[in-house]
Amino acid sequence: KFITLEGGEGVGKSTNLQFITQWLTDRNIPFIQTREPGGTPLAEQLRELLLAKREEIVNPTAELLMVFAARAQHLAQVIVPALERGDWVVCDRFTDATYAYQGGGRELNRAFIEQLEKDVQGELRPDKVLLLDLDPQIGLQRAAHTGAADRFESEHLAFFHRVRAAYRERAEAAPSRYSIVDASQTLPEVQQQLAQELQRLL
Ligand code: C5P
Repeated sequence: KFITLEGGEGVGKSTNLQFITQWLTDRNIPFIQTREPGGTPLAEQLRELLLAKREEIVNPTAELLMVFAARAQHLAQVIVPALERGDWVVCDRFTDATYAYQGGGRELNRAFIEQLEKDVQGELRPDKVLLLDLDPQIGLQRAAHTGAADRFESEHLAFFHRVRAAYRERAEAAPSRYSIVDASQTLPEVQQQLAQELQRLL
């Protein structure tokens, strides 16, 4: 099974990722945990470039192609081999983040993203996308406490509203493959829902 965890800034992705991997460990389910952009040495280098150069404003199309370059490498080297072994793959962000950040946030042509998705992934799609959904105003406040929001100072709130809207639009269009989790709930409530979704995949 291929599971991805998605959401905007400060939605609690890291904490809930730990919950998911612990849930799988407790059940002796073989899995790998990985992330995007990243997951291989080359893809991690691309990630660093993407995040560090943010202030210079990477050209949006260049950003999109870098994200997919990282993804092609990640799929070939890590994700596909793991799925072929029968391991579960738990991935922190995947192509839905591209639709959300590069499509929604940076307003790139969605047809172009769809074309790249087809060419880079073939038929491969996550079995389940867990979307942690939260008002970006709350998310950015939460993220500020961890210092993680510093690098987003240059972004406007409107950017993150577009990110959220793009995520939600995709989730609402394919409810069987997506689960929207209301991340404004308490952590136990969020995790109870995550556990239910995981249980359904067994
Ligand atoms: O998952 P994490 O929060 O560590 O990702 C770091 C940042 O990378 C995100 O907050 C987002 O701003 C950026 N990103 C992006 N486009 C993607 C994936 C991530 O701009 N497709």
